[in-house]
Amino acid sequence: MEVGLRVVRGPNWKWGNQDDGEGHVGTVVEIGKPGSTTSPYKTVVVQWDSGSHTNYRVGYQGSYDLRVLDNAPLGVKHPNIICDSCRKQGIAGMRWKCTRCFDFDLCTHCYMSDKHDLSHPFLRLETAASTGVEMPKGKVLCVSK
Ligand SMILES: [Zn+2]
Ligand SMILES: [Zn+2]
Repeated sequence: MEVGLRVVRGPNWKWGNQDDGEGHVGTVVEIGKPGSTTSPYKTVVVQWDSGSHTNYRVGYQGSYDLRVLDNAPLGVKHPNIICDSCRKQGIAGMRWKCTRCFDFDLCTHCYMSDKHDLSHPFLRLETAASTGVEMPKGKVLCVSK
């Protein structure tokens, strides 16, 4: 968890369209600290690309408003992979592969929309040649890590 991290709304989001709608991206600009009155411990301040600037919970009272967005290099494609949720052939950007299910892949949009069992860890594959980075269960941000 650090300043500069790119984030999207997460599993406990209840703030309407502060982010200007599902899938919009913001940047963490401040990390909460114990004793701070403006950004308490386990919260962060996000500057949304759409302009607003607000505090969110990243473990505060057990709630997670955000999740990390990992940007794949622009223009990457996985031409032979079909998304198992939306059935689109040729995933563009990052490919998300379930480590529990046999041959199960998602595109970023379906991964972010929780189209699969949240208890299954996913591998994130940035390029066709990539071996993947294992993502934590539930995909939530954790400041204590
Ligand atoms: Zn899809
Ligand atoms: Zn699975």
